[in-house]
Amino acid sequence: MSNLTENGWEQKVLDHVDRLENELVKLCQDIIRIPSWDRETRGEAEVAHRVGKTLEHRGIQTEYFSSHPNIDNLVATWKVNKGKRLLFNGHVDVVPPGEDWTVDPFAAEIRDGLIYGRGAMDMKGGVAAMTMACCALHDLEVPLKGTLILNAVGDEERQGTLGTTWCIENAWEKIKADAAVIPEPSGMGPLGYAVNIGEKGPVWVKVTTKGKKAHGSMATAGKNAITIMLKLLQALEEAKPPSIPPVLTREDVVSQFAMALKKESQQIESLIQEAGESNPLSAVLEGLDATSMNIGTITGGVLTNVVPDRCEAQIDFRILPGQKPEEMINFIRFHAERLGISTDCDMEIIEAIEGSVVPTHRQNKLAVTLFNASTEIAGPSVFFLVPFATDGRLLRRAGIESTVAYGPGNTVLAHTVDENVAIDDLIKATKVFAVSIIRYLGVKN
Ligand SMILES: [Zn+2]
Repeated sequence: MSNLTENGWEQKVLDHVDRLENELVKLCQDIIRIPSWDRETRGEAEVAHRVGKTLEHRGIQTEYFSSHPNIDNLVATWKVNKGKRLLFNGHVDVVPPGEDWTVDPFAAEIRDGLIYGRGAMDMKGGVAAMTMACCALHDLEVPLKGTLILNAVGDEERQGTLGTTWCIENAWEKIKADAAVIPEPSGMGPLGYAVNIGEKGPVWVKVTTKGKKAHGSMATAGKNAITIMLKLLQALEEAKPPSIPPVLTREDVVSQFAMALKKESQQIESLIQEAGESNPLSAVLEGLDATSMNIGTITGGVLTNVVPDRCEAQIDFRILPGQKPEEMINFIRFHAERLGISTDCDMEIIEAIEGSVVPTHRQNKLAVTLFNASTEIAGPSVFFLVPFATDGRLLRRAGIESTVAYGPGNTVLAHTVDENVAIDDLIKATKVFAVSIIRYLGVKN
């Protein structure tokens, strides 16, 4: 059997993943049933250990790295040979369930082929899929030419300091790799699947305007900070934030889908519109073209009859890979100066993450491998850019430039009520991972 070709191994592994369906579903359900959003509980650690158990049971080596009394980050290493190293990094924490669920968010109930629960797609489904892909290959003793590493981390939803960042700083030798996959949900609803080659960066800016207090009946004796703020915000809205040529445009993606689905671009546009509000594909696609801006909060004034001396607004920019956060400050300052109000305005970055992207993705081995496997196994696929931040940015910054996000579930439905993942998507993602591992690392024959 050891002289099977790469293609021969792929066939065996695809069949074996089908045989593992029950175990895959059970693992996904088990980890959904462990609530892992509350740092006061052991949830994040327990999920890591439940994942680890599946691997240990097969003799795959695991280690746990505690970054917090309640977070144990798992690193599992299956070293078959010296050669390339491929890392899978998935987070085990979730966001709080919130209100209005029609099912129990931690029961992992199955209805019509969908597993429901907080984290089903973001991203316990992805964690289950990466784990079972590794198990499928290990069960068959596929003679990979390299090393496969699984890293299940905590703390992603709170920026990753105690999860991926912690592992980069404290267990780098264990997780360093030539390329990495982040199994975050990347389905595109009715259109197909996305191989995410990068992400935009959130830049949050606090703007404060200063005025002078006076009695409301003698307003001209004072200086109204709210009025100054309104002028500035109006100018920013009209000007639009500075942008650079994007890596991928909405038009690119629509034509990629048109090609993948063998349809006209116009028909793709109709599908996007039909997806409707419950699936805001259109908004995600528009986000590709330019830096976006949202005025998120505004506060000011103390009483109706007092001229306000202070007003504060917070703005959420999503910058494109290649842009610097400071450019957003310069943008605001430019308009404040133009309006002659710069001495009345302060601006400060309160959160900044730069965008990041796999360079020349169409020539990148991992990106192309995932793209081809997804096209063959899952369905129509495109290269895409995630509109929000993932731990991928941390791995790219640490030196694993070839970090790609791909996983089961629909990108735009993460964090919503009645979150769910289709069992069919779980199986497809597991197969895409298993086949991609074979193709990326290669097999001995
Ligand atoms: Zn996530």
